[in-house]
Amino acid sequence: MSFWICRTCAVEHAERVEVCAICADERQWVPAEGQLWTTLGELADEGYRVEIAELEPDLYGLSSAPDAGIGQQTKLLRTPAGNLLWDPIGYLDDDAVRRVRELGPVVAIAASHPHMFGVQVEWSRELGGPPVYVAEPDLGWVARPDGAIRPWTGPLEVLPGVTLTQPGGHFPGSAVVHWAAGAGGRGVLLAGDTIFANPDRRSVSFMRSYPNRIPLSGAVVDRVTRAVEQFAFDRLYSNFGNAISENARAVVRRSADRHIAWVRGDFDHLT
Ligand SMILES: [Zn+2]
Ligand SMILES: [Zn+2]
Repeated sequence: MSFWICRTCAVEHAERVEVCAICADERQWVPAEGQLWTTLGELADEGYRVEIAELEPDLYGLSSAPDAGIGQQTKLLRTPAGNLLWDPIGYLDDDAVRRVRELGPVVAIAASHPHMFGVQVEWSRELGGPPVYVAEPDLGWVARPDGAIRPWTGPLEVLPGVTLTQPGGHFPGSAVVHWAAGAGGRGVLLAGDTIFANPDRRSVSFMRSYPNRIPLSGAVVDRVTRAVEQFAFDRLYSNFGNAISENARAVVRRSADRHIAWVRGDFDHLT
């Protein structure tokens, strides 16, 4: 067996360590029964498969069924110069690789932050070896080192009109993708967990930990918001199929101001 997959977060590991560092971190959790490991072969035997859906022209969502680990939705972004695989899921099989290849050459793989590493190196190996970009501040979370991994700080234009930056917040190197041609030319932000589209579809949240509910400070939220406000975008996709379909840039600012006011104590008089 060439590598192992943490069952809880689905991040690939070169070795079976005592506990997955990503899950043991205060932002995640280790199951009550303790650390669990699996393999691609075991997941295939359990019936895992990859589903691909078109989200809008030139943007596809890949998810595993059932959910592998955290259960993110990978984004496959198509451009005339090649494709970006963003937030790679922690499962793949021959059928998934074939269908991804049919959509065009993947020339770059990147994750918004370590929770979304998935089996990023394995995706690279199966897709002809495109570079796997890892934010330099978060390199220490890579558990399966590989020659395909490229540290970056940014901004990084991985493809024409497709720019990676690191607003930070959720992780020191928490990254987003700005896709200028998305949403019919109005611009798209692929926000990972840096900015989380809420179930009400008209607000977003900014958290150090989503499962363990650890908030970010007002200062950090303002910094993250200013970092993405440099881009024009109308639509925002987070990493579980959740999205803000329009006016997303204004939604981010309005939500940031609300967050900042609450953590500052502006509403202490409310009951
Ligand atoms: Zn884990
Ligand atoms: Zn996360």
